Amino acid sequence: MGLWQNIFYNRSMRRLRQMLEFVRMRDFTLQYSSERLFGEERRVTEEINAIMREFREMEHRHESESQLYEALLSEVDAVMIVTDDAGNVHWMNRAAIEGLCGFRFDNLDCLSALHPSLPSQFRKLRKGGSQLLAFTMPDGEERQYAASLTSLFIYGMERRLYNLQSVAAIMKQGEIMAQQKLIRVLTHEIMNSLTPIVSLSDTLSNGCMFTEEEKSHALSVISRRANGLMQFVQQYRRLSGIAAPVLQRVRIVDFISGLQVLVASFPADNCDMRFDVRCPDRTVNIDRAQMEQVLINLLKNAVETEASDVCMTVSASDDGHWLVLSVEDNGGGFPPEVSDNLFTPFFTTKPGGQGIGLAVCRQIVGNHGGMIGAECVGGGTGARFTVRLPL
Ligand code: ADP
Repeated sequence: MGLWQNIFYNRSMRRLRQMLEFVRMRDFTLQYSSERLFGEERRVTEEINAIMREFREMEHRHESESQLYEALLSEVDAVMIVTDDAGNVHWMNRAAIEGLCGFRFDNLDCLSALHPSLPSQFRKLRKGGSQLLAFTMPDGEERQYAASLTSLFIYGMERRLYNLQSVAAIMKQGEIMAQQKLIRVLTHEIMNSLTPIVSLSDTLSNGCMFTEEEKSHALSVISRRANGLMQFVQQYRRLSGIAAPVLQRVRIVDFISGLQVLVASFPADNCDMRFDVRCPDRTVNIDRAQMEQVLINLLKNAVETEASDVCMTVSASDDGHWLVLSVEDNGGGFPPEVSDNLFTPFFTTKPGGQGIGLAVCRQIVGNHGGMIGAECVGGGTGARFTVRLPL
């Protein structure tokens, strides 16, 4: 190698080493002037500059993305915490700091300041599905969260993402949506009745000549629609007039055996009803008559499905925080587009149905501080309605 070549080679190697050093320090500002360079040395230098530029742009993109995600996640009301297996916190959103505890913490153990059981409640959470996390704050406030745990890999390291949603907020949101749906249904029903009334009474009062028969026909249509509307409003009154529950302590086994007596009058020839009580001695605070009404409504719906031989199972179990009552049937379930509206007052898919039963169930269960939900089971061969009541 000639002298000049040797000098160029050494300078290029020095620049390469320097570049590697900068990359290791995650500093991508390095740029060389290639003005007075020629040939291979110039090409190597320009290559180094281009690589550093690419790194810099990548870093900027990465930073802006992180800022965007951070900003988005800080707007989310759900509490989000990322930890490692030892419970060391690697990231948390604003809701975790402000909504959950009011301070930043670096390990789940610090949550014992809120309640001694909280760190172990976090650690007991299992992946998949949502579980209840409940505790009493030092000031006596009861908190309940629907909590879920997800595993994720960040830079090749396994991390745990805890996601907590306040049960009160979920229920409030459910209420708002239910109100909106109710308003839609009410408007639709009222307009359906009022439109012919308005149009017929306009026609009658326009001074046109009508035969007595036409007049009497128009008036009877008006009367029928007006009566229909009145009945509808009376039903609504029934729905909105559900009394506050009068709670009494009831043993599950007593509750279920009372229910068995009540449903004895159901048609028995094509209907098989089973009871599976897994927590007979558990007691729960309920308005017994109202809760019986809930289960009767659910069982009546199961009987009214299209199954030729209806098989229903009522089960009762407890998951430590909730009493879980469920009614499962083999009546074909419901299509996905129906599932959003099941509990909406006046929603029905039955000819002659009133669409009140499930709305009443939801109201009663809500008044008990509980939740009710529905899902299709057996690949769409049946439905399960689940009532959760706080223990
Ligand atoms: P109704 O029985 O008068 O229709 P509900 O409020 O009790 O009023 O039920 C509303 C709708 O929910 C029903 O029309 C039906 O479409 C659906 N539904 C209720 N229970 C079941 C069930 N067990 N299986 C499938 N669909 C159901």
